[in-house]
Amino acid sequence: MLIKYFRARFNIVYESQFKIALTVLLLIDAGARLYYQRGRKGFERTTVKYERREKFLYYLVGLGIVPIFVYLFTSLIDTFKLPFPAWVRWLGAVIIFTGDLLFVWSHRALGKNWSPLLEIRKGHTLVTSGPYKFIRHPMYAAIFIIGIGISLLSSNWIVALSYMLPVICMYLVRRSDEEKMMIEQFGDEYRKYIKRTGRLIPKLKS
Ligand code: SAH
Repeated sequence: MLIKYFRARFNIVYESQFKIALTVLLLIDAGARLYYQRGRKGFERTTVKYERREKFLYYLVGLGIVPIFVYLFTSLIDTFKLPFPAWVRWLGAVIIFTGDLLFVWSHRALGKNWSPLLEIRKGHTLVTSGPYKFIRHPMYAAIFIIGIGISLLSSNWIVALSYMLPVICMYLVRRSDEEKMMIEQFGDEYRKYIKRTGRLIPKLKS
């Protein structure tokens, strides 16, 4: 009985170091999004594509994040563990941090051209600098990298699946339509941009 009690206490203390690290690493993303999107509401949208579908995907991704909060602030899903040793979990923290850097860099480069849905705004410019110099979807790449890190650091399969599945769905459904929309808007400039960049991984020069 006593051993069971202490083991449970130890598990809570052991798990909290990872939970604190994950909280801090996710706050970086939330902070970046808030910081770079301040004053975004004033912009007029000139094109909106597949609004209902995109909203659905957006909320699906949002729903997928809920278990992260359940994991962080309760021990309700702590039993859905993956068998990762501590060093793998800390590697997850490093991976999230790398993803955070790419996320912040992408937001900085995209500036007011960012949007949660597929849309073009008044005064939209084509960004081909920063991480956009190498890949067309650095923000989605960052979201994947962060997801891999979250899966390792939380070592929890509910957290991992509920984050990764909607994000993968969103990316697969959206990527071609986003590029089509960009071609409609920027024409040959975007077509040329496609030729020299990869989607998530930089193109090797031939
Ligand atoms: N797919 C990009 C951007 C995600 S935000 C990434 O992963 O980094 C989605 C919005 O960004 C789209 O609605 C589109 O209007 C805008 N967008 C995408 N690529 C862009 C680019 N190279 N320059 C300017 N705006 C871009």
